[in-house]
Formats: sequence, structure tokens, C-alpha cells
Amino acid sequence: MSELRLKSIACPLCHDVSHRPLLTSADVRCHLPGHFTVVRCDRCNHRYLNPRPADECLADCYPVGYAPHQAVVAALQTNSAAASADSAVSLPAESTPWYLRWLPLRRLPGLRRLYYWLMDDRTQPVPEAIRTAPGVSPVALELGCATGAWLLKLKSQGWSVSGVEMCEGPAAVARAAGLQVLTATLEAANLRSESLDLVAAWMVLEHTPQPLQTLSEVRRILKPGGRLIFSVPNAECLESRIFGSAWYCLDLPRHLQHFNALSLHLILEQAGFAEISIEQHRTLIGLWGSIGNLLRRIRPHSRLGAWLQRYPEQPRLILQLLSAPVAIVLAWCGQGEGLTVSARRPLSAQVDSSPSGDTSGPGRAAGG
Ligand SMILES: [Zn+2]
Repeated sequence: MSELRLKSIACPLCHDVSHRPLLTSADVRCHLPGHFTVVRCDRCNHRYLNPRPADECLADCYPVGYAPHQAVVAALQTNSAAASADSAVSLPAESTPWYLRWLPLRRLPGLRRLYYWLMDDRTQPVPEAIRTAPGVSPVALELGCATGAWLLKLKSQGWSVSGVEMCEGPAAVARAAGLQVLTATLEAANLRSESLDLVAAWMVLEHTPQPLQTLSEVRRILKPGGRLIFSVPNAECLESRIFGSAWYCLDLPRHLQHFNALSLHLILEQAGFAEISIEQHRTLIGLWGSIGNLLRRIRPHSRLGAWLQRYPEQPRLILQLLSAPVAIVLAWCGQGEGLTVSARRPLSAQVDSSPSGDTSGPGRAAGG
């Protein structure tokens, strides 16, 4: 494959053109040719990929074999089976590890509670359904819903759910599980203004070339008082500073934005959101991938390095449990490897800060 066509850009948050380079890396996950540089804006300190792939090359950053899309076939089988059994609440059953089947762990008092506390990594919380008019379910949309696993959990909580997914493969899996999913970008979906109680986006915003426009569009489709929840990698965590260009969550050139708590506040306020709260992720899942990246840099044919690079795609429960105490301490210190953000569209009427300024538009109703 030839190198991606890159274009120099201004800061996606403040539109200033002055910046300084932070790090340069090759694509260690998909091995696209070329080198990619993350810069820091001189004016607002936002970190972003510059130059970034030209608009017509953005899709080429996700070649066949891109790991997050590889679970499609397996998910299709499990989701279809789940949908035929009970489309309302079923999720793919996870196989129980041997040590949970054979050891008398379930009989130890308090262990179940400890297990759930350790496994609560805060990466994709499932909100309880809010109260609306009698007999009417609250309406939620997930951007980049992939195969729909989180939407199924949300549906089981009483939400009316739908999704937007750019890739047809994962979207087809979600539809097979009984979910209403549009294959489009959020902007192209042209959803009805003020039609949603909740919008979620898990590890999506860092992939968007114009995150301010995306957030402004989310604000437009949320009802006044409606809530946005999303997650992004934490570009300022200890892990990113230790591993630098080998940090697993860097994922160049697919991650175009590299947020921290400060830049998240900045962009959300610019997009017209209020009641912003940010929670640290309590997981070290990316750490193993970062060690793998580093190992492969030192020894390019290391099999252990290759296994560690793939580990975050199929984490082992035992390693998650063992690393959870360290992950929880790091989260308490503000060093989680990812951030989960909650913000609201204000109740009171305010000047629409959407760059397009268009709050009308016909569009489809969201909701399943
Ligand atoms: Zn800036």
C-alpha cells in the first residue's frame, strides 16, 4: 500500500496554527507506511495529529484486519443466537474460567462483592433509565455502536435504543441482534433536533477529524437537559509518559485527537455543554500492549511481544483481577489510561454554539 496523503491542519479546538511536535511514530498496529507526528497547540495545549490523513484517506486508516473489527464474525454468531433466544435482554454468555468452576470461591463471604468492585473499570457505565412520561421509554443513541453489545445492556435497563456505525460489518451484527442501527456518520444521519435523552460514544471522539463539530451536532440532537457520556484515552496518563511513542492507546494514525481532562473541559464548554464530570478508568489493559510494542521495537520477531500486542483485544480475566488493585490506585491518582466523561445540554435556552448554526432540519427520529 502507498503512503497516506497527509494534510497540515490548524488546531481542531482553537484554530490556531502554531504548534510544537511532541512525538513521531510509525503505525505499530496495522503497519500502514509512513510516520505520524503528534503536536501540541501553542495556544490551548490540545494535542493532535498534524499533519493528519487527508479526508479522502481517513477510511484507508482502517484496513481489513483492524483488530476492533475482527470480532465481527464471532459476534454475529453469538448475537444471532442471543437474539433468537431473547432479543430484549440476552448477551453473549461468557465462558467461566476453570478456576471459578473448580475452586469453591463462590462460597467465600463478600467475595462476589469484591469481584464486582475489582471488575468495575468505569470504561462503559450503563445508566439506569430516567423517568419520562408514563409509558414512554427514555431514548438513547450510541455513536460508533460497533456490534451493539453496550446498546443491548442499555436496552435491558428500559431504554429505547438505536445506534450509528460507520462500518457495515459491525452494523450488520448489531441489526442481527435486533437493534436499529444506521450505517452513516453522525452528521450524515441527520437526526431530529432535541430528540434524545442520552447520547453515548465509547472511544470514538479521538478518531474524529473535527471533534468540535461532532460535539455540537450531539448537542443539537439532545433534548435540553439531555446527557452525553463518552470515553477517550487519557493522553496525559503515567503510562503514556513512560512509553511515549510505544504507548498502546496512541494508535497512530487512527487517533487524530489526544485529549486530557483540560482539553475535554475546553472543547465541551465550546460546544455548549455544562455539568461536566470526568472519571478515571480503573484498568491496565493497555499496559500489556504497550510492553508488547516496546518488546517488538527491541526484538522485532519476539513472539511474546506479538502476543502482548494482541492481548488488549482478548484480555484474560485472571490478569484483569490481578492488575485491578494497581489500576484502582492509579485512577485515584488521576493516572487512569482512559477517561469517561459525562456532560449535559443545559436546560435553559442558550445561544447555539454549533459551528453550522443549524438547529432545525428534517431528519429521522432516533429510537428503537
Ligand atoms: Zn489550540
